[in-house]
Order: sequence, then C-alpha cells, then structure tokens
Amino acid sequence: MNANGKIPFLDLVTPHRELEGELLSVFKSALHSAGFIGGRMVDEFEQAFAKATEVEHCVGVGSGTDALRFALLAAGVGPGDTVVTVPNTFIATAEAISQAGALFDFVDSDEKTHTMDVEKLRAYLETDCLPELGTGRVVSRRTGSPVTAVIPVHLYGQMADMDPILALAERYQLVVIEDACQAHGAEYFSKKQNRWRKAGSMGRAATFSFYPGKNLGACGEAGAVTTDDEKLAGRIRMLRDHGQSRKYHHDLEGYNGRLHAIQAGILSAKLEHLTRWNSQRCQSAELYNSLFAPMAGSVGTPHQPSWSRPVYHLYVIRTPERDGLQRYLTEAGIGTGIHYPIPIHLQVVYASLGWKRGDFPVAETAADEVLSLPMFPGLRSQAQQRVVDTICEFASTRSVR
Ligand SMILES: *Cc1c(COP(=O)(O)O)cnc(C)c1O
Repeated sequence: MNANGKIPFLDLVTPHRELEGELLSVFKSALHSAGFIGGRMVDEFEQAFAKATEVEHCVGVGSGTDALRFALLAAGVGPGDTVVTVPNTFIATAEAISQAGALFDFVDSDEKTHTMDVEKLRAYLETDCLPELGTGRVVSRRTGSPVTAVIPVHLYGQMADMDPILALAERYQLVVIEDACQAHGAEYFSKKQNRWRKAGSMGRAATFSFYPGKNLGACGEAGAVTTDDEKLAGRIRMLRDHGQSRKYHHDLEGYNGRLHAIQAGILSAKLEHLTRWNSQRCQSAELYNSLFAPMAGSVGTPHQPSWSRPVYHLYVIRTPERDGLQRYLTEAGIGTGIHYPIPIHLQVVYASLGWKRGDFPVAETAADEVLSLPMFPGLRSQAQQRVVDTICEFASTRSVR
C-alpha cells in the first residue's frame, strides 16, 4: 500500500530501487566498453536463461513478438501454412503468425484454466480439418491450407496441458511453439515423462517476453527463444541479425531483432532473483485464495490443476459483475487490469476474416468476466486484505439490490 492508501496493480519501481547499484553498474560497463548490441553480456544471459529453462539453447531477441515470429520462421512455418492457437491471448501471438506469412485458426480455451482446451484442439483437427492425401497432415476447412503448427499459450503464468497437446502434435505432424511470454519459471508435470518440465522446454521452440511488467522484465524491450534444436537456434541467430552468416554475408532475408547488451546485463542481474520473486507471487496467490474462500459463490478464483506449478504472472478472478467491480475498486484506489477484454477473433483488425461472436464462447465469456488483481513480488498482505474486503463490500451492496 502506498502512503496515500492506494494499491497499484503493479509496482515496477521498488524492485528496481532495490537493485539500483547492480543495474547501474551494468549500464556503466556497457558505456565503458561501448558494447551496446550483442557481445559478452548477451552471451552470458543466453547461457544463464537456457540453464534456468532447462534447454540447450537460448537466443536473445528484441521482444516477445520477435521471438514468436522468428521461432515460426525458423521452424519453417510461413506462406501456405495454417497455425492454430487460442483467441484469448495477447494480440502478438496472432500478429506473429500472419507476419510469418501464415494463416491462423483458433480453438477455444478451457473454462477453468483459460489455456488451450485440448478436447477442442482434438475436435478441430478431426472435424474442422480434412486429411491431406499422402502426408499424414490435415488441411483446415476454413483456410484451405495445411495445419503445420500449434501455439499453446501459457496464460497468466500457468502452462497449458502439454502432454495431450504434444501427443496430438505428433499424430498430426504439427510443430509446437510454446508462447511462454507470461510463464518464466512455470512448471508442468509430464505424466508421459514422469517429471516436472519447465515452461519453454517442451515444444520444438518456446518464446519469452522480457517486457518490463513480465515476471522477468528488462528495462525496455527484450525477448528470447529457447530450444533444444541447434539448427533452429542457428536460424534464429541469423534472422535476428539481417540473415547474416557472418558480417555482410546475408544468406537469407532477416530482421533487425537483436537483444541489447544493456538489457541482457539487466536481465542476468534480475534472473538471480526470479525464483524468489516467483515464490512471493505464489504466496500472494495462496493468501488471495484463502481470503476469497468465504466468497466462493460470487467470485471465481484461479484454478490450479495438480499437474501445474504456476508463477502467477497475473492473479485473475471471475465475476459477471466485472465492469462494476472494476469501477468500484478504481474508486477505492485499487489498481486492476483486464487480460484481455476482446478476444483476438473479435478484434477490428481481423473483422474481414469473418469470425463472429459465438464462435469461441468460452473465451468470449471469460473476456467479459475476468479481472486481474494487484499481483507483484512485495505485495503486502494488508494490501491484499484491503483488496478482498473492498470486493466483499461491493458484493454485499449488489446482493441487497
Ligand atoms: C507480452 C506477450 C507477448 C509479446 O511480448 P512483447 O515482448 O511485448 O513483444 C506475446 N504473447 C503473450 C502471451 C504476452 O503476454
């Protein structure tokens, strides 16, 4: 809680104050060496993040959106392909697909976890697609092109149900790109492998965003791709750097999508604290859960399946009275967010693609009901108590009417 009693949705100031000395020395060493793009600090961060994610390779890029676009391109997904994902995600997931030259289809999200509904993915592949002769792949009836990749999104810091997604992907020859932009450090218990797996280690490649508000955030734009596939990592290294194999030798057309040295240095310093910050988020989530227990009928709290160890990038509740509740909390000085108010298939930019309300009812209802409460490392328990008390107050004024 601030001195003025306000509770912010997110506090990005305190953690940077705490690490100020360390972060300034990163800036100084970049200044003194004038190494601003690539170089030692980038290599070091890539190694540390690959280790933390339990993968062979990490390639730092300019943003999470770059990471998604490069991962698709490097995996050979492009014009003539269809990629299937969920409609309740940040727009970048869809942008990356079409900017890679591919078309997208959606399958609805799961009512409880807000991640890809595996049965809907199965139904999509079995009934919304037709077998392609002789390849084992399927062709989307809607787009008319073969479905070659799937992007499960680990939304709010919780992984999608990866075992069955990977099994379907194997059966239908789909490349799996995890959108792990909200899930740094999250884990999934793979029954198939009988062990916990890190977000970003299960697909052919995975994408991370280090946008400042993410669980691991830079002091500017940054992102990364993780993969065990050395060739794919090499292609991403080229794509991020104008397709260069070596200086001024351009073997393919690439992009300007490199990770800045200063951001990499800052990320290395902050990575040391990620586990602690994530466990603080989990403790805050548990406290919210217990404070909300008496209100189980009116407020839906996050669902955590037994196979999931989420990192609570966001703590998202549900209520049909969402808009009224959000206004009430704003008036009480409590910051909130909505992730996301409009599912991708209903965004104006994609209106010409012909989707309509009712196509993905689970994601649509969620978009009307979800509310993200204050959640960040260092959130005080008194602040959480006040958030829940205020929501209680709102609920009691509603039930009188
Ligand atoms: C943040 C985010 C992105 C995009 O990352 P940027 O670094 O902002 O480009 C993509 N997908 C999801 C789910 C995200 O939350």
